Amino acid sequence: MPFKLSSEQEVMQKVAREYAENKIRPIAAKYDEAEETPLEIIKEMSRLGFSTLTIPEEYGGGGVDALTACLVIEELAWGCAGITTSATANSLAAYPILLFGNEEQKKKYLPPLSNGKLAAFCLTEPGAGSDAGAISTLATPVDKGFILNGNKCFITNGGLADYYTVFATIDRKKGARALSAFIVDRNSPGLSVGKKESKMGIRASNTTEVIFEDVFVPEENLLGKKYGGFRIAMTTLDLSRPIIGALAVGIARAALEKAAQYSKERVQFGKPIGHFQAIQLKLAEMAMRLEAARMLVCRAAILADKKKGRISGASAMAKAYAGDTAMYVTTEALQIMGGYGYMRDYPMEKYMRDAKIMQIYEGTNEIQKMIIAQDVLRSLK
Ligand SMILES: Cc1cc2nc3c(=O)[nH]c(=O)nc-3n(C[C@H](O)[C@H](O)[C@H](O)COP(=O)(O)OP(=O)(O)OC[C@H]3O[C@@H](n4cnc5c(N)ncnc54)[C@H](O)[C@@H]3O)c2cc1C
Repeated sequence: MPFKLSSEQEVMQKVAREYAENKIRPIAAKYDEAEETPLEIIKEMSRLGFSTLTIPEEYGGGGVDALTACLVIEELAWGCAGITTSATANSLAAYPILLFGNEEQKKKYLPPLSNGKLAAFCLTEPGAGSDAGAISTLATPVDKGFILNGNKCFITNGGLADYYTVFATIDRKKGARALSAFIVDRNSPGLSVGKKESKMGIRASNTTEVIFEDVFVPEENLLGKKYGGFRIAMTTLDLSRPIIGALAVGIARAALEKAAQYSKERVQFGKPIGHFQAIQLKLAEMAMRLEAARMLVCRAAILADKKKGRISGASAMAKAYAGDTAMYVTTEALQIMGGYGYMRDYPMEKYMRDAKIMQIYEGTNEIQKMIIAQDVLRSLK
């Protein structure tokens, strides 16, 4: 690190590293293969505060800054990005409440997330992915609340959550301007969990449809202002994208370490392959990109901690660059391991499968680049 971490940050980093090494890594391959979520570990991570790091202590969270959270997430993702995705989904669902909820909502819904309860963030729909303004889940105002109808897809922890933060439109003709956000309890009549997805990577995380059929949501569960949902979603994603960057850095670091170690041990043509310049150039490029990605993640987190102005551009850069880096580093690392890297006996092919989602979820990298370009153009005005 080019700057000194506080003793608290160093301790948190060490605790997370040890947890990843002792609790997450030993089970990562098993749950990836079975495509199941280790619920006891996810609940333990919740109770240890790993899934509510930045939630203030008064609401049961870890009360740490965004930089510390990113350092911790990098360590956990080094252990397994799928398990860590499931654990961090709580933060994604909690941000709308933390940032826009009233005191009553915060006191009711945030503390359980540090006590084994799970939440999920429901924005994406079959017809509204990158274009969140095209959401068609309808929130019809009725006496004392709203009735929700619609389908959400690709929801992390969709099948495991105790409650959901849901984005719905009050008027389909008004697009993004009519979005509103709601907290919806899992046991609400009419709410059901649909198809569980079978995925290429992060297979230990649970991804499902969530279906709303005439689900009554009381008006006290409206988050922020009616029609304020688009801002809630975008502000949430600005804060959570550095976390995705940190996840990507954790995967890349795990792959680089494994490839470097392998290059010292694998002998061909009478020498360890790490003696060959072609391999060294790969290791150098991987190491440079990994460091650059980590710095962009730290920069975005530090800007978020300063709470001054927009962080959309910095946050998008961190997520896009780190996601691309995870894909690049894992691909090159697998190449360094040759045929062995391709085999399921080794973790490398899992790292590569896990890396791909970092370029897709919480906004694809194409969308991140649109956000970055808007910042560039705005800066010239
Ligand atoms: C494993 C997993 C977990 C997820 N978890 C959650 C979750 O917890 N909650 C949630 O709400 N969502 C979640 N998502 C959804 C995720 O955020 C979306 O998949 C993502 O935003 C992309 O939407 P899409 O898949 O509909 O792709 P599309 O929006 O259909 O995009 C398809 C392609 O077109 C490109 N594209 C689209 N528009 C443009 C444009 N204007 N210019 C240039 N290129 C463009 C995209 O970059 C992409 O390459 C998850 C997805 C996955 C796969």
